[in-house]
Amino acid sequence: MSQIFNFSAGPAMLPAEVMLQAQEEFLQWNGTGVSVMEFSHRDPAYVKMAQEAEQDLRTLLNVPDDYHVLFLQGGGRGQFSAVPQNIAAKTDTVDYLDCGTWSGYAIREAQKYVSQVNVVGAAQQTEQGKRIQPASEWQLSDNARYFHYCPNETVDGIAVHDIPDVNAPIVADMSSNILSEPLDVSRFGVIYAGAQKNIGPSGFAIAIVKQSLLGQPQPEVSSIMDYQLQANDNSMYNTPNTFAWYLSGLVFKWLKRQGGLAGIGQLNHRKASALYDYVDASDFYRNEVHPDYRSIMNVPFQLADSELDKIFLEQAKNAGLVGLKGHRFVGGMRASLYNAMPYEGVEALIDFMREFERTHG
Ligand SMILES: *Cc1c(COP(=O)(O)O)cnc(C)c1O
Repeated sequence: MSQIFNFSAGPAMLPAEVMLQAQEEFLQWNGTGVSVMEFSHRDPAYVKMAQEAEQDLRTLLNVPDDYHVLFLQGGGRGQFSAVPQNIAAKTDTVDYLDCGTWSGYAIREAQKYVSQVNVVGAAQQTEQGKRIQPASEWQLSDNARYFHYCPNETVDGIAVHDIPDVNAPIVADMSSNILSEPLDVSRFGVIYAGAQKNIGPSGFAIAIVKQSLLGQPQPEVSSIMDYQLQANDNSMYNTPNTFAWYLSGLVFKWLKRQGGLAGIGQLNHRKASALYDYVDASDFYRNEVHPDYRSIMNVPFQLADSELDKIFLEQAKNAGLVGLKGHRFVGGMRASLYNAMPYEGVEALIDFMREFERTHG
């Protein structure tokens, strides 16, 4: 079988090395004679693996000691309600920056739990493309319990590259850009991510939570989503997704071998630049995001003639390039270039796009 490059937005490609290791030890994990999926999460061998995964994640992100690292269930969206329920009271005001599709979902969920959800700014169209309103125009509340934003909008391919300079604790939905480049965790109150883009299997989520924000959850918060309770139980209040935790741990070790976030960050910027440069130079393809707000993880692009979309996808698939269909809200194509995508995948995509333009342009 010739090589397949998977550009899916999520669940997304995982490093081949990790998949092979998981395959090799699938039936007999760690000399135990049973699969990691059949193993008690209370067994010292499992606990050791789980703690090592947490430690590797802490090392990769240089997480300060006063932050909990939680391994939770319910994916990225589960955190949309967990955040307000854990760190805001019903009567509080919270600020949300509306960066795009996922921000919208987060805002609507927060409205169920907090009476004042203030949308401080939004994405907007400019002559140079779509961007987020500049910070100088944001209508921040002066008493916000927290400020929420999504630094990488997966559907729209829009990114906020600078951490906002606001007074309230910052909460970030990093589902599609966590671990993609170095990050100063100490600037945040909560960072959360569904796992299926840059970490591991879907349904799993990671939350990095500053201890000082906890202590007064809303009384109705479900126990499995109670940050403090999960922190006290090392994320094992209920049975965790043991396989996802294990696989994520393998991905963290793989990332360390790639030179950590500095190493993978450099590669990610090279991959994205190569594709944007090619798209910008071509009259046949276009990206509609303002150059300063382009995502390095998700690159949407349109063909000059959308009638060709179907043929493009079909021929790309035959060339071993899969998962390129754009989100149904945006149309066109989207190439997701998460950590596991090698540079060769981007080269293969550009070669294919060049040939397609030559034969259909
Ligand atoms: C994928 C995604 C989500 C949703 O994740 P689920 O695991 O499907 O709940 C939330 N936010 C962002 C930015 C995403 O990319």
